[in-house]
Amino acid sequence: MTHFEYAPAPESRSVVELKESYGLFIDGEFVDPLSDSYLSSVNPATEEVLAHFAVGSDADVDAAVRAARRALPKWSKLPGSERGKYLFRIARILQERAREFAVLETLDNGKPIKESRDVDVPLAAAHFFYHAGWADKLEYAGYGKNPKPIGVAGQVIPWNFPLLMLAWKVAPALACGNTVVLKPAETTPLTALLFAEVCQQAGLPKGVVNIVTGAGATGAAVVAHAGVDKVAFTGSTAVGKSIAAAIAGTHKRLTLELGGKGANIIFDDAPVDQAIEGIINGIFFNQGHVCCAGSRLLLQESIAEEVISRLQHRMSTLRVGDPMDKNTDVGAINSLAQLQRITDIASSGDAEGARRWSVDCALPERGYWYRPTLFLDVTESHRIAREEIFGPVLAVQTFRTPTEAIEKANNSPYGLSAGVWSDKGSRIHLMAENLKAGVVWANSFNKFDPTSPFGGYKESGYGREGGVAGLASYLVQE
Ligand code: NAP
Ligand code: MG
Repeated sequence: MTHFEYAPAPESRSVVELKESYGLFIDGEFVDPLSDSYLSSVNPATEEVLAHFAVGSDADVDAAVRAARRALPKWSKLPGSERGKYLFRIARILQERAREFAVLETLDNGKPIKESRDVDVPLAAAHFFYHAGWADKLEYAGYGKNPKPIGVAGQVIPWNFPLLMLAWKVAPALACGNTVVLKPAETTPLTALLFAEVCQQAGLPKGVVNIVTGAGATGAAVVAHAGVDKVAFTGSTAVGKSIAAAIAGTHKRLTLELGGKGANIIFDDAPVDQAIEGIINGIFFNQGHVCCAGSRLLLQESIAEEVISRLQHRMSTLRVGDPMDKNTDVGAINSLAQLQRITDIASSGDAEGARRWSVDCALPERGYWYRPTLFLDVTESHRIAREEIFGPVLAVQTFRTPTEAIEKANNSPYGLSAGVWSDKGSRIHLMAENLKAGVVWANSFNKFDPTSPFGGYKESGYGREGGVAGLASYLVQE
């Protein structure tokens, strides 16, 4: 097989100015944590410590919630057009500083620069633009004549799309007149802290956005605080369940965006070249650290052999390595803990009798890496077919009829996403109607847009983010 040789094309990191350590962003200022405790964030591609950041204690979270409550009356009563101006300003600053955000995201998270540059950062700005447009039109959104904000939103986000998940949470909350206390993930706090600077730059009133970094206990403190009226969580199903239990019986409202095990279903009349790209994008985009990843490939039996061999060929052309190289397709695994989780679940595939095939590529010496991998001879009871691996590992199964494809796709505790590849419109409609998945992509995969609601069924959570439906999570109807 011939491969193109690519010369190195490194993005420069000089556009990012890292401080040695970061405080908490409370009431419009960076402050030292009362606990005087710090953690460090590493670059998973090099294991280099990038910066230290504060661990928010219960008392720090209390200060942040109090600041958010103080800011609430004025912010919620601002005319929507005025709130919209702040959101537009934030969106424009994100665009102006896009390169800085993209480089910082790639350094802290390990994702390829071409993804942070072309997906994460532009989509984050798009979420602020979209919700800026709603801020003065909420009475036309279908939630009554005079919808009101819920109050203080406590938001906890994961490490796979750090800035983008922040935008999904902060933009609708502010547009609807809520104030925010946000807890970023422990391994990726740096773009949230840069976002705090953007809030200052935009002249956002003090206390409207507060960012409290830390580990799981800090997130738990945000969730538990009595001054929080609404909790929005994106992360694992296990933590989501513990949050639902923790706030049961309180006045708090809750939305949960949890895990997934998406089925990517390829029929024999599918446009195969596009489908191969869709399979690759579905599972290897962002190293497979994607809740809606197409991690189960369902192939119609008559084309299975052909698709698998073309897929293996395409996988061998993926460029795995330095995330800062503009040609890199698959970057570093976000943390050592995540690498261990991927390794564990994948080895259960070997033990349970599935057949492993991995790309034979060189990996950098330092950092956390996992070879793009697929498993053949997978059955529905295998762990690799049931549990979320959250890494670049694809479980391949076959089917004969649309009914069998639907049954296999729905045979999962999750229900976040699915993809259907077929030339037949009627078949796509039939599948979309019967698949228990919050998002069904047709002849595409992993396409995102702020106008389109996102969310799950079953153990993938409840509530929607994005689109008109997403506004409901931040409004009270009157
Ligand atoms: P995680 O362990 O659930 O963590 C998510 C966030 O919750 C982090 O900020 C984490 O802090 C915090 N946290 C941990 N324990 C907590 C507790 N008891 N109370 C409150 N907050 C707590 O998940 P993860 O490993 O970071 O992310 C991977 C998971 O997220 C995957 O299962 C994936 O499917 C899911 N995910 C879902 C979506 C979606 O939209 N449905 C999107 C992205 C990711 P630390 O980082 O400090 O532990
Ligand atoms: Mg990091």
